[in-house]
Amino acid sequence: MRRGVALAALALASCTPKPVLLEAPRLPDAVALGSATWLIPGGFEPGRSPDGNSVILAGPEGAILVDTGRHLGHVEAIERGFRALGFPLAAIVNTHWHLDHVSGNPTLRALHPGVKVYGTSAIDGALTGFLATSADASRKALSDGSVPESAIPDVKGDLATIARGAELRADVVVDEPRDLSIAGRPLSLRIARRAATERDLWIYDAAEKRAIVGDLVTLPAPFFDTACPEGWLKALDDIASSGARQVVPGHGPLMTIAEFNGWHRAFTDFMACTRGSGALEACSAGWLAGAKSWIGDDTARAKAMADYYGGLIRGGKLDGYCKA
Ligand SMILES: [Zn+2]
Repeated sequence: MRRGVALAALALASCTPKPVLLEAPRLPDAVALGSATWLIPGGFEPGRSPDGNSVILAGPEGAILVDTGRHLGHVEAIERGFRALGFPLAAIVNTHWHLDHVSGNPTLRALHPGVKVYGTSAIDGALTGFLATSADASRKALSDGSVPESAIPDVKGDLATIARGAELRADVVVDEPRDLSIAGRPLSLRIARRAATERDLWIYDAAEKRAIVGDLVTLPAPFFDTACPEGWLKALDDIASSGARQVVPGHGPLMTIAEFNGWHRAFTDFMACTRGSGALEACSAGWLAGAKSWIGDDTARAKAMADYYGGLIRGGKLDGYCKA
């Protein structure tokens, strides 16, 4: 029997009938994960800033969207998905405040009045801290001409998003783990403290044994920019013991739990290596070997990222993100 046919919330006598999903439709630009769940892959073009993955889940009372991307093209792909699904957007869940995961919030709020945004309060500190500082640096770089031509649209786009910071914030703040029903679909919201950001939210869909983990799993390398490496390791242990059989990363394709375990091992080895005293090049080489099935021919970029983040960890540049 085809999967994804489970939802049938008929409201025959209601003036506002609830959506009925008798058969999971094909969504353009999306990878069907089964059971009324679709992955809209985030892009990462050379020389451009990335979009995080988005996930659409259909619930008896509407659609739930996990993360909203950065570029307009990604938001348009999400919208095409909603149109094909024929469901109203009931809720957005943001895994964390990075701009490749929340920039679509204002556009989607405007298109879907009444949508409720779930997320942690970590964005408040980011708006006055990391994002404010990076906006200052971006304005300076634009004015002194040091931004490469190809990156200018992304830099300007991020500045415009930061200027609308209040519209990125959650309506429903989730700072502690909570099991709840969103759009009629039971989901377990889990919180990782001091991991990829100060507070990362990830979702365990117990009915599907699927974890949607945002940037707790990324490719072609772990994105350590605002991370506490040891807290991140603990979060990965929590995902590993959650019961999940599938893991949806923040960047990269769907993973089986065996694949996730391989990624987890490569992350653990990379961390141990960078915290040691051997050559950092060996840490990057270890990462490239451990994650080679995903990296494919993206080796140069993966190595450059691993070298950069290895240096941040070795130099103690991320230790501040581990402080309470
Ligand atoms: Zn991301």
